[in-house]
Amino acid sequence: MARSVDELEEGRGLLAPVTVSLESSIDQLDIRRVELRKWLAEHPNPTGRELAEAKLVAPAWPEPWGLNASVEYQLLIDDELRRADVKRPINPIGIGWAGPTIVVAGTKEQQEKWLPKILSGEEFWCQLFSEPNAGSDLASLTTSAKMDGDEWVITGQKLWTSYAHLSTWGILLARTSNEGAPQNGISYFICPMNAPGVTIRPVIDMTGDHAFNEVFLDEVLLSADCLLGEVNEGWRLAKVTLGNERVSLSGEGVLWGRGPTAEDLVALVRSQGRPLSKIDRDDLVKCWSHGEILRFLRMRLNANALAGKATSSDASLRKALADDHGQEVMTLAQRLAGSAGMIEGHGPGGIDSDEGRSWYWGFLYSQALTIGGGTSVVQRNIIAERVLGLPKDPSA
Ligand SMILES: Cc1cc2nc3c(=O)[nH]c(=O)nc-3n(C[C@H](O)[C@H](O)[C@H](O)COP(=O)(O)OP(=O)(O)OC[C@H]3O[C@@H](n4cnc5c(N)ncnc54)[C@H](O)[C@@H]3O)c2cc1C
Repeated sequence: MARSVDELEEGRGLLAPVTVSLESSIDQLDIRRVELRKWLAEHPNPTGRELAEAKLVAPAWPEPWGLNASVEYQLLIDDELRRADVKRPINPIGIGWAGPTIVVAGTKEQQEKWLPKILSGEEFWCQLFSEPNAGSDLASLTTSAKMDGDEWVITGQKLWTSYAHLSTWGILLARTSNEGAPQNGISYFICPMNAPGVTIRPVIDMTGDHAFNEVFLDEVLLSADCLLGEVNEGWRLAKVTLGNERVSLSGEGVLWGRGPTAEDLVALVRSQGRPLSKIDRDDLVKCWSHGEILRFLRMRLNANALAGKATSSDASLRKALADDHGQEVMTLAQRLAGSAGMIEGHGPGGIDSDEGRSWYWGFLYSQALTIGGGTSVVQRNIIAERVLGLPKDPSA
């Protein structure tokens, strides 16, 4: 039966009124948008599993997990989900980083084992890469993986593992050879976080949150099918993961795509209406201008992606600029709050307001921006070499 798009929109509170029936709208509306609105009308509160089965969680992934969606189609899907107020499952490391690597390197059996529950959010994932002595220089990692019979024995220590305590699985880099260059002896594993020998200890960060952990791996046994790709091929796969990490960490809000923006800070100051010193006024305008430059850069990079002209350095460029800007916004917000900004729960939004709490938290959290996902210094090295063609970092 024909249902008008109006009917669909009324049910979902969508913005633009469209007054044609579904059938006749096909000429005027993108057929994909029409079908999506129909699906959303039939699934007003979709579960993670329903979204995954409809291939709407990671539409860029190939069939059968995604829709092989072009950048334009992805933007269309994002737009429709946003308008319908439908949120995708929260599983940043699973969906953003582990999943794409399993899509590239996993066997059919591995993909069928892990991808459905990554996409539905039923199994949460973490990333076991960094170690006490291997961060920027990740290739120097020492956690070892040795074959014993038909099992791998993993021994070592990982650090800064976000959400390890909430995760079912972790992507793990371990050393399988000491021959040749360090990066040629690394393999990529999937580790069940409840395996005997895995010990997870919390690391409380300066916001007071428990997101990080240190993870000890004491002769953890992994079956042969926990190896992703070939032995000693882990460095190539880690680059797939880290490339996706940089893209995921460069969204719109100033805290890795979350949190407020410079525009929000300006709006807050405007709404308070109190006089500003010349320096605060100058810094606020500079900060807002940097936010606008980043917004235009994001649009340009999206346009490049739409035209198939995206480069691998785009994410590094965007991340390096966005991370410094995030700290600029949060530091300025803290300064504008005056002495009250030094007390928990106080920010430019006023004493004990939710607004104040989030700016205060944001100020503390923003210190992580220039470290996580590859430090800003390292991103600038990449830009220097790959974009500007400058001589290589002599210490590398
Ligand atoms: C919020 C957050 C979440 C994280 N989550 C995870 C996670 O889930 N899993 C995980 O494995 N890791 C995680 N990390 C760790 C992160 O990847 C590392 O902190 C990062 O790679 C830097 O490594 P490092 O801390 O050992 O610092 P180092 O690499 O020791 O760097 C120390 C300093 O030296 C500088 N430096 C290093 N190399 C160079 C160079 N070649 N040239 C110039 N300067 C250089 C750096 O810029 C930095 O200022 C997370 C980190 C943060 C902040």
